[in-house]
Amino acid sequence: MCSPVGHSLAGALVVRHNRFDFKWSSLKALLLFLVIANLPDVDFLFGWAQGDPNLYHQTWTHSLAFIFGVSIVSGLIYSLKGTGQGVQAGRLVFWILAAHLLCDILGTDYRPPIGIPLFWPLTDYPVHSPYTVFGNIIRVPHTEGFFRSLLCWHNFRVVVHEIGVMAGIYLFLLIFRKRG
Ligand SMILES: [Zn+2]
Repeated sequence: MCSPVGHSLAGALVVRHNRFDFKWSSLKALLLFLVIANLPDVDFLFGWAQGDPNLYHQTWTHSLAFIFGVSIVSGLIYSLKGTGQGVQAGRLVFWILAAHLLCDILGTDYRPPIGIPLFWPLTDYPVHSPYTVFGNIIRVPHTEGFFRSLLCWHNFRVVVHEIGVMAGIYLFLLIFRKRG
């Protein structure tokens, strides 16, 4: 899995290269963006009550069905604003969430089942790339000390690596777009 930093940067790249007029200067829009970019990881909360945040991590919220559903609902809610941009907003949410899933597929995963159930509910088969781009975030399998366990040098290096990869993609897209 990627860190929230990696997921947020991946989502920011999507927003940057999307035609939707996103207001980065709006705190409300920024907070909403951060929630959407990290929404599939809400599954950490499912296991929290049972004492292990990892218990249901990378389950059904990491599926195409979930992100389709969230995108459609988001588009419908946004269309209530009457700006006529409901479809564009829904599409943007979809690609931000798809970037989250892609990062997790490309992330190092040591916890079986390795990968994410991309095609849930048709199958729980975990999808994972044979080649990983991102490191594994270390975290303890219990609520006590969970957040403290995230603060270690290994995770710091993983986050720095994520920032480097995302910066590389940003520069690549910048050059590619200028040439295109
Ligand atoms: Zn995730």
